[in-house]
Amino acid sequence: MFIDHQALISLMKDKKLSKHQIRWVQKLADFNFKIMYQSDKQNIKINALTRRADFMSRDINDERIQYQRTTILTLNWMKIVDLKKNNDQLIYRQVLDVNEIDENCTLLREAIARDEAQYEDIKLKNCWTQNKILFHNSQLWVSFNKLLQMNLIREVHDQSSIDHSEILRTVKIIKWNYYWSSMRKTIDQYIWNCYVCQRSKTSRDKSNDLLQLLFISEQQWQNIVMNFIINLSDSYDYNAILTVICRLLKERHYISCIIDDEDITVEKTAEMLL
Ligand SMILES: [Zn+2]
Repeated sequence: MFIDHQALISLMKDKKLSKHQIRWVQKLADFNFKIMYQSDKQNIKINALTRRADFMSRDINDERIQYQRTTILTLNWMKIVDLKKNNDQLIYRQVLDVNEIDENCTLLREAIARDEAQYEDIKLKNCWTQNKILFHNSQLWVSFNKLLQMNLIREVHDQSSIDHSEILRTVKIIKWNYYWSSMRKTIDQYIWNCYVCQRSKTSRDKSNDLLQLLFISEQQWQNIVMNFIINLSDSYDYNAILTVICRLLKERHYISCIIDDEDITVEKTAEMLL
């Protein structure tokens, strides 16, 4: 493959690639090809197809004019492939079927028939029905069925022409035909959990610093931890326990004490410890 973008040559050779480049290299790995650089001037055939007509030479003998109508893909190159059933149609059919029999949709249809302005927290101003199917403006109503909604988002978000595009684009495409309340939230949730999206996303967090080791004491009882266990029932006039633990030996002392309504102060604690 001859291209006039020199930087692309290193894409297949570089050992250090960004996450975004890795995604493309993985995709391209399915094809058998080699990228070769050819300068603008040498790349006449490609230029003839891609350059704007008004930049083209007027000279009939110019090679770019000669190659302008070259057939690059001949018929022999094309294969006739069986087209799979259109998934879009399948999911549309599923949404229609659920819409027709779903209990919530039935309740909504009944509320619309009674000319109610609102059903629970759903405003019915833009909702209408036709042949037992519920619509919202020009969009088909999707019932509150998590699995159906997830299937629908997957169908749009994972298909090859959209290819895991960002949240806003996925929302826009789904909104063309479908509606459900808190749609944005469901789509956010799906994409945040999408394995492919999460793997190809560049981390924008600050890189983590090295782990800070805890202080290691050199002799026993140099570094201690103290804790009060309070709200115990009275026992020999005491109602709390002060625990003192040596961090090095893990040896511990339990000091019975009284904690009344007054706050326990530093002085009091020091006294107890001594
Ligand atoms: Zn994704």
